[in-house]
Amino acid sequence: MPTDPSTVPRSLHALRWPVEPAQGGWYTEAEHEALRRVLAESANWRTGWRATSYSDPFEAAFATYTGARHAVAFNSGGTALEMVLHHLRLAPGDEVISCALNFVGPHLAVISQGGRLILAEPEPVTLNLDPADAERVITPRTRVILVTHWNGACADLRPFLDLAERHPHPVHGPPVVIVDAARACGGRAPSGVRVGSEGWATVFSFESKKLMTTLGQGGMVTTNDPALGEQLRWLRTYGGRERWGTNQMMSKAQAAVGLVQLARLDQMNDARVTRAHERSRRLAGTAELSLPPAVGERRHLYYRHNLLVPEPWAGAGRDELMELLAARYGVGSIVNDPPTYLGHRLIRDHTRGQRCPRAEQLAARLLCPCMHPRMRPPEEAAVCDAIEQSTAHIARTYATTD
Ligand SMILES: *Cc1c(COP(=O)(O)O)cnc(C)c1O
Repeated sequence: MPTDPSTVPRSLHALRWPVEPAQGGWYTEAEHEALRRVLAESANWRTGWRATSYSDPFEAAFATYTGARHAVAFNSGGTALEMVLHHLRLAPGDEVISCALNFVGPHLAVISQGGRLILAEPEPVTLNLDPADAERVITPRTRVILVTHWNGACADLRPFLDLAERHPHPVHGPPVVIVDAARACGGRAPSGVRVGSEGWATVFSFESKKLMTTLGQGGMVTTNDPALGEQLRWLRTYGGRERWGTNQMMSKAQAAVGLVQLARLDQMNDARVTRAHERSRRLAGTAELSLPPAVGERRHLYYRHNLLVPEPWAGAGRDELMELLAARYGVGSIVNDPPTYLGHRLIRDHTRGQRCPRAEQLAARLLCPCMHPRMRPPEEAAVCDAIEQSTAHIARTYATTD
């Protein structure tokens, strides 16, 4: 291990823990068994890979699990969100409010479906869309409030539903609330109901890094609106010979594995929450770091364990901390994610003139060190020690330069 991290380029460090886990959950013999069964069944040319024998039960199980009336499976969360927005037939100038701290996917979906993306600030504790800032930017052209459950912290939808009611669009009525729950599958709202049962539509992703995965890709929409549920089914299978549509079906093998992952989701999430609470407890004595909010009852699933460094460390100090963690201790970390308009040219051009200083400031203080429910206790202890010691090191630098 090098002692002076500044002399070794970051790319050369062998990380003992990657910047983020490549798989959010984990597989057991049951997933392997499901996959073997599907392979064997699909060998018959009369049956083949036709998906519905598994995608119908997977959708039914997902609807039951979330408490939503309809669940429609897709080949990814990104395409699923595009189809939900497509159904709204946004006209030029129709506005979609979304938090600036976000994954680029939902913002690109808004742009692809002809919406005007309106950026709003996160609230500083959960980093979810701030209802007060959404109220600042809402206009009579607002069609959608897009709420992302950021890094697993489930947002309270009630303020957004209420905001929508108070600001109806002159033609379409109250803006709809669409929820991006790609990082919060299995989470619960403050009222106790599952993520997916509230709002007009909720989009889930089963990409590899998410809390459950259908062989690395996949998505789902839940809704209580039967018209949306029906339209989504047409949209993902070539429009049923009448309307426009495309092919965004989830495959049979993905659905078969999805059924198993869904049955194991609570167990995987519980393990993750336990691990996150342990980490927060261990880091509670490190006064410089702001920890993720401790909310119980699966209201935070800790897709990432967000840490915020003190304001004076924003940018350079945070970068130094990440570098030290990697170089001296082999602990990878990631900034998940900076404001989309800073990192993506198309989004920057589209939102020209808009800026979210609070989002920028929070992103400059943010780091998410590697965490996974399958990390063994000694590994977790080593990562926590590394975070404590690296933070103490940076704190000394800042104390002497004051
Ligand atoms: C992963 C993710 C998506 C997109 O899901 P894909 O299935 O990868 O297309 C959307 N929003 C958020 C917040 C995500 O993390």
